[in-house]
Amino acid sequence: MAERCEVLRVENVTVAYNGRVALRGATFTVLGGERVAVVGPNGAGKSTLFKAIVGLLPLESGRVEVFGCDPRREPASVGYVPQREDVDLTFPVTVHDVVMMGRIRHIGWLRRPSRRDREAVRRALEQVGLADLAGRPLGELSGGQVQRAFIARALAQEAPLLLMDEPFAGVDAASEEAILHLLDRLRERRVTVLLATHDLQMAAEWSDRVLLLNGEVIAYGPPADVLCPDALRRVYGGQLTLWEHERGTFILGDGHCSGGRR
Ligand code: ADP
Repeated sequence: MAERCEVLRVENVTVAYNGRVALRGATFTVLGGERVAVVGPNGAGKSTLFKAIVGLLPLESGRVEVFGCDPRREPASVGYVPQREDVDLTFPVTVHDVVMMGRIRHIGWLRRPSRRDREAVRRALEQVGLADLAGRPLGELSGGQVQRAFIARALAQEAPLLLMDEPFAGVDAASEEAILHLLDRLRERRVTVLLATHDLQMAAEWSDRVLLLNGEVIAYGPPADVLCPDALRRVYGGQLTLWEHERGTFILGDGHCSGGRR
């Protein structure tokens, strides 16, 4: 089937900040239409991995390919929803401007947006429930609304691969609901999604594969294989309370996940 082609290849990728390695030798591939949850404790390298994939950070070594090409040369192929704390809310742009940025590669430099571009922006804003706030400065939105604006930017980009960095962190219930609904819509459209999350229950229930990170790839595979007591203890140590039961591993609350069961 066409959607099972390889969309993302990360090969032996190492990333460092000022000579300090944050991610070492990451290797994995993602197939078309897959939903991959990227999990690991704070500082595990989830954001670093995403920034390396979209070309925001240089690689110390290794390579990244999206549909067989360097994503820095084909940036339209990867949509990126940054973590909220990475967004500069003082930058004077409206919600509409932010979403239109997703169309830049379609519009081309120094050209005006076409009707198709404006329509894509309108649709994306509607999908995330922000149509009424299009003219608002970004800095006046709530955390959840900012997150939705960046998701709309990625939707307007119409990228076949989407990276979402902790989209549920600090969002209100309405935004959480809207984001979950969108994830379902993306599934229908066979968009390949990598989502960084602290929520192990969500990772277990939502994803086709889990990438467990802790400065390097600890495990990668179906949730039932990766979210097993051994691997989780290795990564989270005493921060997680696990309760093994014949029906699965129960993950009891901690500072890093909402608790739950697989
Ligand atoms: P996660 O997203 O899993 O919480 P990060 O990718 O943000 O992890 O961080 C991985 C490691 O890289 C951490 O040790 C963090 O302190 C370090 N790091 C992240 N961003 C920077 C930066 N801009 N400068 C220096 N070190 C950084």
